[in-house]
Amino acid sequence: MSSRITEVEVLVTSPDRNFVTLRLTTDDGVTGLGDATLNGRELAVASYLSDHVAPLLVGRDAHNIEDTWQYLYRGAYWRRGPVTMAAIAAVDVALWDIKAKVAGLPLYQLLGGASRAGALAYGHASGRDVPELFDSIRAHLEKGYRAIRVQTAVPGIDAVYGVAAQPTAEGARYDYEPAQRTALPVEEDWDTRAYLRHLPTVFEAVRNEFGPELPLLHDGHHRMTPIQAAKLGKALEPYDLFWLEDCTPAENQDALRLVRQHTTTPLAIGEIFNTVWDYQTLIREQLIDYVRSAVTHTGGISALRKILDYAAQYQIKSGIHGPTDISPVGMAAALHLDLAIHNFGIQEYMPHGERTNEVFRQSFTFDGGLLHPGTEPGLGITYDDDAAAGFAYTPAYLPVNRLKDGTMHDW
Ligand SMILES: [Mg+2]
Repeated sequence: MSSRITEVEVLVTSPDRNFVTLRLTTDDGVTGLGDATLNGRELAVASYLSDHVAPLLVGRDAHNIEDTWQYLYRGAYWRRGPVTMAAIAAVDVALWDIKAKVAGLPLYQLLGGASRAGALAYGHASGRDVPELFDSIRAHLEKGYRAIRVQTAVPGIDAVYGVAAQPTAEGARYDYEPAQRTALPVEEDWDTRAYLRHLPTVFEAVRNEFGPELPLLHDGHHRMTPIQAAKLGKALEPYDLFWLEDCTPAENQDALRLVRQHTTTPLAIGEIFNTVWDYQTLIREQLIDYVRSAVTHTGGISALRKILDYAAQYQIKSGIHGPTDISPVGMAAALHLDLAIHNFGIQEYMPHGERTNEVFRQSFTFDGGLLHPGTEPGLGITYDDDAAAGFAYTPAYLPVNRLKDGTMHDW
C-alpha cells in the first residue's frame, strides 16, 4: 500500500494573527494539514517549506512518516533551529493526518488509543490589579476551566507579559496579544526586583480567595537569573503552584540545577526548544517536572512523542504549549498526543477567535475543563480556502524588553 504525495501547498493567512499551514495531497486524493507557524518569523518557515522542502516531497510515499522525518532532518545537514524544526513538524503532522484519514481513525487511535477521557486544560487569567485578576479567574472558572495560569501587572512596570490587553473601543478581541501588527516590535520595560517583591503577594491573595485546591500556574517568561528564580520558587512554595514556567532563559540547561537545589516548586520549560537535545540534561538529571514543547516547534508528533517517552522514564510529564500562535492544526495535533500518552500532565489552552475558526474548521471540544480532539478521521481539522483568502499576511512581532536604564532584557 502506498500513496504518493502529488501536491505540496504552503498556505499563509492572517485571520486574527498570521498562520502558516502546510497541505499535502496524495495521488489517491487524501489531504493532510500541518501547522508551520513561527510567531513573528512566519515567512521564513513558509520559504523553507516552499523553496526547499516541497520539491523533496513530491513523489514520496506519504505513509513513510519516520523515513521522511529522518530524510528532512539529516538530509538538510544543518540541523535543529526553530525554522527547520517548524517546517519538519508541519510535514510530520500532515503525514500523520493523511495516515489516520486513510485508516479511517482519529489520529490518537494510531498513537495507542485514548489513555484518558480528555486533556485537562489551563486557561490564562490576568489582571492589572488584584480585583481585576479575581474577575478574570472567576470568568475562567465559569467557562469550565479547572486550572488557571495567573499573571499580573507589577507596580512600577508599564507593560508586563501575560496581562491581557483590554478589548479595543471597537470591541475587537485581543487575539493577537502579545504580538502586535506593527512594523517594528513594541518596546516594554522590566524590573526583576519589583516583580519578585510583588508576585508572592498576588499568589497569597489568590489562594486566600479561591482556596487550596485550584491548580495555579505562573509563567516567568525567561526573565530571571538562576538565583532570582530560586528565590521566587521558594517564596511561592506556600501557595502550592502546579508549576513555575520558564523561570530562567532556556538556553542554559544547567541553570535549572541551581533553581532545583533551592525549591520544591515544580518547574516547567521548553516552549522555545526544538529537539530532544535541548532536554537531554534537564530530563536525565530530573531538573524539571513538565515538558513545555509545542508539536509545531519540535519537529512534530513523531519527535515530541520521543521526547515525552524519554521524560516518562523520570516521571516528567507533558505540558504542551498552546497559545493562539499555535494554529488549530497544531492544537489538534497536541490534543491527539495528550489523549494517547501515559505521562500527560496538562494542556495550555487559549481559544482562537471567530475569524480563525472560520478558516480552520475544528472537531475538538472543550467540556468540563477537558479538551478532546474529537472522533473525525485524522486530525479533525479542515482548511477553508475561501475564508482564508480574505485575510492577507500582515507583519506582526512579539514585543522586546528593556530594563529601566535601557538595557535589552529577555522578553
Ligand atoms: Mg510560556
